[in-house]
Amino acid sequence: MSKRRSLVSANWKMNGSLDSIRQLVSVISQGVSQGTESEVIICPPSLYISELAGMLKETNIGLGAQNVSHLECGAHTGEVAPIMLKDFACKYVIVGHSERRVFYGENDLRVAEKFVAVQANEMIPILCVGELLEERESDCTKEVISRQLDAVIELAGIIAMKEAVIAYEPVWAIGTGKTATPKQAQETHEFIRSRLARHDHEIADGIRILYGGSVKADNAKQLFELEDIDGGLIGGASLVADDFLTICHSAR
Ligand code: PEP
Repeated sequence: MSKRRSLVSANWKMNGSLDSIRQLVSVISQGVSQGTESEVIICPPSLYISELAGMLKETNIGLGAQNVSHLECGAHTGEVAPIMLKDFACKYVIVGHSERRVFYGENDLRVAEKFVAVQANEMIPILCVGELLEERESDCTKEVISRQLDAVIELAGIIAMKEAVIAYEPVWAIGTGKTATPKQAQETHEFIRSRLARHDHEIADGIRILYGGSVKADNAKQLFELEDIDGGLIGGASLVADDFLTICHSAR
């Protein structure tokens, strides 16, 4: 039995409508209410956060956001401030998802600033790290992940990792149907933990490290059983209620 409670997070990305998310939440919350060992959260598109805050109130599912501004307020058209997420009872915020890094130009420093802003507003960042295909093929995975982690540690200090979650998401596995093999995933998770342990063993031991990248109903158990994998960040499969529930029930 792991000393860390696992976490399974749905990342709906830019999908759904008011009707479809209402249906999805109702089936997921019924399934989760029957009991899961893991903590379960949903990160909907930001416009639906308010709706979900209401729907999840009487359930044991938590609420998260997919992104946030690094700034507190002001003239930043289209952005969402951390305090606004806090207002709607968001507990977690994803920062540094590869889609934000790659398509929206968020660099390591900006991701670190978002991480700090989330904690400053008493929410928990889910920090995504992971390598591109060419980086894995040129054997740079550890170097890339170290750089991504170090940027946050430099700005926030290792102590900030005490109230954080990390998600290892190999970019080549996200939405592609290609999952990291259990060996690849465990090796990288172990590396992330060891990198944090250089600073603080206790924090490294306690932090939850999720795996993300084409986790499906039929491969979740195999991944979640691994020593250093503490749950998952689930994209596509979290839009199908039965699949997401199977994944939630696969976490120890
Ligand atoms: C993600 O969006 O974080 C993700 C892992 O997506 P998918 O499960 O679809 O690969």
